[in-house]
Parts: sequence; structure tokens; C-alpha cells
Amino acid sequence: MQTSFTLAQLADPNVAESEKILRTCVHCGFCTATCPTYVLLGDELDSPRGRIYLIKDMLERSAPATREVVTHIDRCLSCLSCMTTCPSGVHYMHLVDHARVHIERTYRRPPVNRMLRAVLAAVLPHNRRFRAALTLARLAKPLAPLLAAIGLKPVAAMLRLAPARLPAPGMATGHVFPAEGRRKGRVALMAGCVTPVIGPSVNDAAIRVLTRHGIEVVLPEGQGCCGGIVHHMGREHDALSAVRRNVDAWLAEADGEGLDAIVTTASGCGTTVKDYGFMLRSDPAYAAKARRVSALAKDICEYLARLDVRAPASAPGIVTAYHAACSLQHGQKITREPKELLSRAGFVVKDVPEGHLCCGSAGTYNILEDDIAKRLRARKVANIEKVKPDVVAAGNIGCITQIAAGTAIPVVHPVELVDWATGGPQPAALSRTTRTAAAARTAEAAL
Ligand code: SF4
Ligand code: SF4
Repeated sequence: MQTSFTLAQLADPNVAESEKILRTCVHCGFCTATCPTYVLLGDELDSPRGRIYLIKDMLERSAPATREVVTHIDRCLSCLSCMTTCPSGVHYMHLVDHARVHIERTYRRPPVNRMLRAVLAAVLPHNRRFRAALTLARLAKPLAPLLAAIGLKPVAAMLRLAPARLPAPGMATGHVFPAEGRRKGRVALMAGCVTPVIGPSVNDAAIRVLTRHGIEVVLPEGQGCCGGIVHHMGREHDALSAVRRNVDAWLAEADGEGLDAIVTTASGCGTTVKDYGFMLRSDPAYAAKARRVSALAKDICEYLARLDVRAPASAPGIVTAYHAACSLQHGQKITREPKELLSRAGFVVKDVPEGHLCCGSAGTYNILEDDIAKRLRARKVANIEKVKPDVVAAGNIGCITQIAAGTAIPVVHPVELVDWATGGPQPAALSRTTRTAAAARTAEAAL
């Protein structure tokens, strides 16, 4: 794609980076076929190619973002399906991230939208605030239909997504979990911001599986949200502050007792941490440190795939629909490892049709773009139900929450199933009937 930036514009390293990306796009449009918003809405401006044109025009004119541009960029899930499809290697993620920062700096959103975004940015990345907000949201849940009727759809969406019961808080930072038997490795577990509040069982399972296989786990003091939530809202300053804080916390451990990896259980966070090196590339004090952190980052299934995860005593034989989280399959290109781990642990793994399409979770997307998110969830659930699973496995807490809100089939993280199969407790989300159904099927097949 030809561009016409001036030399003065290209002196800005962010513009120079975006220009490089824009020049790799050859307008072929292959990406449109796998873009969830184009598939649903059929509008070229809601396709990757259309958005690339909008971003190019906005950046070339150094103009404030217009309402039209904001509408179509806001509708982008950052699912990165387009990056998997693109034959020219267009780095859409870095381009849309830059566009979001430009929008945040130059566009004044309507007051309610502005306020809602400010609240999400101030609450979600902080465990305690998020927990308190969910407690209030549970009480206000019955008001959701009324709020939707008076046009406050995102607030209604937020209330609907609030879980009916909150689990006990996850493990605090500062803990060290020793390896069972001979220590073979040492990792930092990134607890995350949302997981310890609504899905602490995921990190608990990860700690059990890792320590059971000889890996010491530390939850480093000072680590927090990966910065992804605010990063995807274009709040660059907040995002980079979170990144620097994590870099300091993890490198203190790496330079102290040592770390083989920084393990993430939420693939959305993992994709962000693996991008820290890029995010801080212009910061002389942090560029090299951030690159080191990115090189250490591993998704839990990616890390477990290197270990000799013990074979289970008896194969559970449970049919498991593997939902490939976008951030894992498109963002980190991890596709085989979770399925192989589950198979080795005795689960019957089924791919979900249209597995490349997002479930609609996408960080705060299912709050801010509720209509599209609901349509994507309905499509995802229908596809999942086609493979008649006993359970759904998804490697991202956002996907787990989003899909679980649309089906009665239990949805868990793959590491919870691997933990169960290798000696841990049965995931609470799985009812007894799941196991009984699997046992009945096995008995039927044996006849
Ligand atoms: S990131 Fe996803 S929603 Fe956004 S343009 Fe690419 S495929 Fe479409
Ligand atoms: S597939 Fe790649 S090169 Fe083709 S239009 Fe999409 S982004 Fe551009």
C-alpha cells in the first residue's frame, strides 16, 4: 500500500512503525473472510482492510479521529484473526494499538461512554476494586433490563456478566510454592487482575500441576495487571506504567533466585506480556529489560508441553470441546499444545467448528459492544454444541466467562482438567453428571 507521510511525521517513531506496517498491506482482502465483524456485519469498514484504510487516512492527515473512524475501530475485537490469515504479514495488532492511542488523544467521546471507560479503566485492573464492584453489580443485577431500556446498554451488559456468586479471593502475591520432589525449574506465575477475582481456581490448578511436576512457583511481590485492559482502550500512559511495574517485579525475581519462565494462565495477558519488548522499545531505561521479560513469557499450556506431564491413572474419557482463545491461537500462535496436553491427560478433544472466530469476549468488548458480542457468543455456543461436549476448555478467563454466560455446558481452563486428571480435585464447574455421562458413554461403547 502506498503511503504519503511527510518526513516530519515519520520523525515520530510510532508513525514510522505504522507506516512500515501499512506498506506491507497489498489490499488483497483475504483477511475479510476471517474477520468476525465483517462476517457478521458485511461492511468493508468493519473488515481489517477497511480499518487499515481508515487508520492510514487518519494518521496521514494527522487529523483528530472522526466519529466514523472511532465507530469502526471500536467494533474491532483485536482478535487478530486477520493476522493469522494475512499472507503479507501485516502486523495489524501494532497498527490498531497505535490508532487507539491516537483516538484516545484526539477524540472526545459522548459523556456516558467516556465515564464508563474511565470506570472500567479505574476498576478492572485492580483486584480489590474489581471485587467490590462485582459485589455491587450482583445487587444491582435486577436493574439490567431497565438500564438497557433507557439506553445504558453497556452498564446493563456489565451487570449481566457479573457472576451470581463470587469465589473466595485468589492467592495474594509474595507466596512461594515449593516443587514436589526434586526441583526441576522455577517460574513466576502471573496471577492477573480478573482471574484471582472471578476464577481463582485456574491459578490454583496451575500451581498444583506445576509443583506436582517439580516446578517451584512464585507469585512475585509487586506484580499486577498486565496493562492489556487499558492498552486496548488507548490509555498508553496507564498501560506503560503497569508494564514497567511488572518488569521490575519479575526481573527482581529473575535476578534473585532465578526464573525459567513467567507463566500466564490468561492468554489475553500472555499476548500483552509477549509484546512488552515492543511496547517499551522507545524507553532507554526499560527497552532491554522489557525484551527480557517478553522472552521469558509463556502460556501455561506452552510451558507444560515441555514437561513430562504424568499420565493419568485412568483416562477420564470426557468429551472436551477445545475453544481456541483468539489471543492464544492468533496472538501467540499456540494451537497444538493445549489439545495435546488434554489428550495426553485422557480427555477426548474435539475442535469447535469456525474455531477461528472470536466468542465476543475480547477484554471489555462484551461490555462496550454488547450487541456484537452477544451475536458472536450465540454463534460460538451453537458451534460448541454441535460437537456435543461434556465440557468446554478455554485458555482465557474472558472467554470462560463469555461462553459460560450462554450455555449450561461447564466451561473451564485446560489446566483445571489437566490438574484433575493428574491428581488434583475435580473442577467445581463440572457437575457429577458430566463424569457419569462420560462413564455411561464408555460403557455403551464397550458393549
Ligand atoms: S482484529 Fe479481529 S475484529 Fe479486528 S479487524 Fe482483525 S479480524 Fe477483524
Ligand atoms: S490479508 Fe493482509 S495484505 Fe491482504 S488486505 Fe488483509 S491485511 Fe492487507
